[in-house]
Amino acid sequence: ADLAMYRAKDTVGRQTCYYEQGMDDIARARRMIANDLREAIGRGELSLAYQVQKDVATEEVSGYEALLRWHHPRDGWISPAEFIPIAEKSGEIVRIGEWVLRHACAEAARWPKPWRIAVNLSPVQLMHVDLIQVVTSALLESGLPASRLELEITETAFIADKVRALHVLRQIKALGVSIAIDDFGTGYSSLDTLNSFPFDKIKIDKSFLLDSETSHQARAIIRAVLALGRSLEVPVLAEGLESEEQLRLLRSEGCDEAQGYLWGRPVRLPLPDDKPGQESESA
Ligand code: C2E
Ligand code: MG
Ligand code: MG
Ligand code: MG
Repeated sequence: ADLAMYRAKDTVGRQTCYYEQGMDDIARARRMIANDLREAIGRGELSLAYQVQKDVATEEVSGYEALLRWHHPRDGWISPAEFIPIAEKSGEIVRIGEWVLRHACAEAARWPKPWRIAVNLSPVQLMHVDLIQVVTSALLESGLPASRLELEITETAFIADKVRALHVLRQIKALGVSIAIDDFGTGYSSLDTLNSFPFDKIKIDKSFLLDSETSHQARAIIRAVLALGRSLEVPVLAEGLESEEQLRLLRSEGCDEAQGYLWGRPVRLPLPDDKPGQESESA
């Protein structure tokens, strides 16, 4: 019912009706989204927004995360949290993910400074035969140096077929592209993931920082992940930075990087020279 909740909350009219009418209609709504997604690339409905990532100690920009945006011709903006899972089930994520990679690399290659570009990768893409070829050609066609590209992968990517996932990640690393574990702390077998996979960064899921002001457990988990990063010699980025108090926490605990609304919502192109946060998306 996640989907219906979203539709009921974010939009009025048609979607609200689906919610009220029950599961058959939710399934129908999903099918309609899956169908419409198939046309989305061709119709130019997809775009990327970029959220700044900064060094906690210096507050210098270190990179940007590309976040997919879909403007549906009738329903308006639809959240990736809603349509990505549908695209994963339908298989459309492979084509969409390829579009994201090519566009993110092409756009980043024209940025005013050589910031790192982080691109989210679906577990479905990781298992798809073409991935290495797609990454290679996205780099070649854009001229973006491989060292500027970081692929964000959640731990769920490792569950289905560990051997194959490991093989693909090694090939990605061999290209000179780096790998970040996204939403760390919310997936399965976290420590096992750290033990077996080659990765270059841990991104602590935003839920921990968002809870940090009220929950000492959340603060303890943040500290524990930072300690883990230090002993593994892997930098840690905290997601969901919304307040100065959270920033003070990250500073005092020695977190390497962060991203969140405090420093800017995802922004559309063109990126400002060094003051991201203008032209923000509204809430
Ligand atoms: P994610 O990769 O963990 O991206 C971070 C999400 O947190 C983004 O939501 C971002 O807008 C949001 N966020 C950033 N700062 C804050 C903050 O301070 N507070 C709060 N509450 N939220 C913050 P968004 O853009 O809606 O994306 C949601 C998810 O959709 C992403 O989570 C990612 O899993 C997926 N996604 C987005 N773009 C792509 C893509 O191109 N490919 C794939 N496979 N997945 C994508
Ligand atoms: Mg991400
Ligand atoms: Mg995340
Ligand atoms: Mg996420």
